[in-house]
Amino acid sequence: MRKIVVTLLVLSGTFLIAQKKQAGNSLPLSSSAQQAMNSIDAEKIRFTVKYLSADDLEGRGTGQKGGDMAADWLAAQFKSYGLTPAGDNGTFFQSVNFYGVTTDGQQTKFAFVPKSGPETTLKFGDDYVATDQTHQEKSEIDAPIVFVGYGINAPEYNWDDYKGVDLKGKVLLMLVNEPPSDDPAFFKGRALTYYGRWTYKYEEAARRGAVGAILIHKTEMASYPWEVVRNSWGGETSLLQEEKEPKLKSAGWIQLEVARKLAQSAGMDLEQMLKSANTRSFKPVELPVRLKETIVSKVRPFSSRNVIGKIAGADPKLSRQAIMYTAHYDHLGIHPNEPGDNIYNGAADNATGCGILLELARAFAGSKEKPKRTVIFASVTAEEQGLLGSKYLGEHPPVPAQDISLDLNFDDIQPLGEPQQLVVTGAERTTVYPGVRSVADAFDMGIQPDDHPEAGHYYRSDHFSLARVGVPAFSVNEGALFKGHDLAWGEDKERDYVAHRYHQPSDEYRPDMDFTADAKVARFGFALGWEVANQQELAGWQAGDEFEKARKNATQGKAGSGN
Ligand SMILES: [Zn+2]
Repeated sequence: MRKIVVTLLVLSGTFLIAQKKQAGNSLPLSSSAQQAMNSIDAEKIRFTVKYLSADDLEGRGTGQKGGDMAADWLAAQFKSYGLTPAGDNGTFFQSVNFYGVTTDGQQTKFAFVPKSGPETTLKFGDDYVATDQTHQEKSEIDAPIVFVGYGINAPEYNWDDYKGVDLKGKVLLMLVNEPPSDDPAFFKGRALTYYGRWTYKYEEAARRGAVGAILIHKTEMASYPWEVVRNSWGGETSLLQEEKEPKLKSAGWIQLEVARKLAQSAGMDLEQMLKSANTRSFKPVELPVRLKETIVSKVRPFSSRNVIGKIAGADPKLSRQAIMYTAHYDHLGIHPNEPGDNIYNGAADNATGCGILLELARAFAGSKEKPKRTVIFASVTAEEQGLLGSKYLGEHPPVPAQDISLDLNFDDIQPLGEPQQLVVTGAERTTVYPGVRSVADAFDMGIQPDDHPEAGHYYRSDHFSLARVGVPAFSVNEGALFKGHDLAWGEDKERDYVAHRYHQPSDEYRPDMDFTADAKVARFGFALGWEVANQQELAGWQAGDEFEKARKNATQGKAGSGN
């Protein structure tokens, strides 16, 4: 995952000045804890990044040799620091089983059949994409299509697109994103909530007994073009073998133009349909058109591993509770059919986060004094496959989710020198935020606001998997302002990375990388984690937050999931 380049230069500049007044506050750490924190070493992070992103590790693909080598190596580091294993059966490994599902675009047939008139057959990749979430080699669908607007049921915003209509056995046609609004009390205004993400749409459709779902792709609503949909759904999709939730035979997307044709063949007007979806009084509309689909897939079972270690807390009572640090080790692996360099080394994404995680583990393990609560370190797999390793971890945590006070996640921290700003999107939603502010002050760092709330970054990295089971969680990253440079310099570096290296084989280790950045982010994470691990009360969510319910459910022993 990667945040998008900062543009609110003036705004965040003023924000910084306002915050800097309190800089120089001392950290709430004992001298031995400070000593441990200061042992965090930028050059050791360099070593980890160099090792994990070498061609030998083949881009650490999930279910590939290089990914397994990375997991073994990370566990060996945990062991060498003296961490206690916190995986399965007294090991550092938590096994996660997957199905790799590839839709066969040649054999799969996808057609709209109207009550009268000719049927429309669509072309895989160009017109639509679809994945069989039930991981069958062949599934058949012949069912009416029902337009359900945004497909959202959000009682807290008094919004229900379903109005109790029975949708068992149907195919749901819906929009991505959420009803547009600037009102912060309505779906958080411009910011995207989880209700707007495509993952939610499929989950909700399956919960209602639908057999398929078709999302209408509009570039400005999805915040990425059709090519991104086609590329990420055209290859193999990984699914967790253990799924408690119901799944769709066909989870698909269609191009906007295809949706227009579909509306026409139903004798309806697409613009009118889209408009009707923006009102509270919207009701599902069954089209006089059926989806006839034969979805054929190649299915490959495989397993991968999360790597988990811990340091026991010092307090006899509080040590039953924990704080957690996470960073994914997987990346995109090798793409054998691509010419030239086809190893996706993933140096920044996310060997940097692994380097930080290892230094945190080494520092906590080396500290003479330990915090009251237990500290868990988890390097997770299959992030690039849709946060699946962390999803499994959230559902099978080494200590119960309600006893985990905080998860701090590290993902893609550019080695660019000394950062003066932090990005901690989502921290403001937790009770930890005042602590985040004061620790940032002590490091003389400002908090950079999220300049693209509508992109929903909070739902795109591993901390979200922990939030879904109620654990207060967010990612810690650097902002765009670095010592010795102006903001434009950092923004330029960020743009350059996104354009030329992000999710490309060129995300490689270079000797001129300056890991001061990663060491500083790690020290910040150490200080904040130490403080939360010692607090009398467990951290929680702000009242009314979308994850508050999951936290309460977890505390009462009910299965909790964000929405
Ligand atoms: Zn990443």
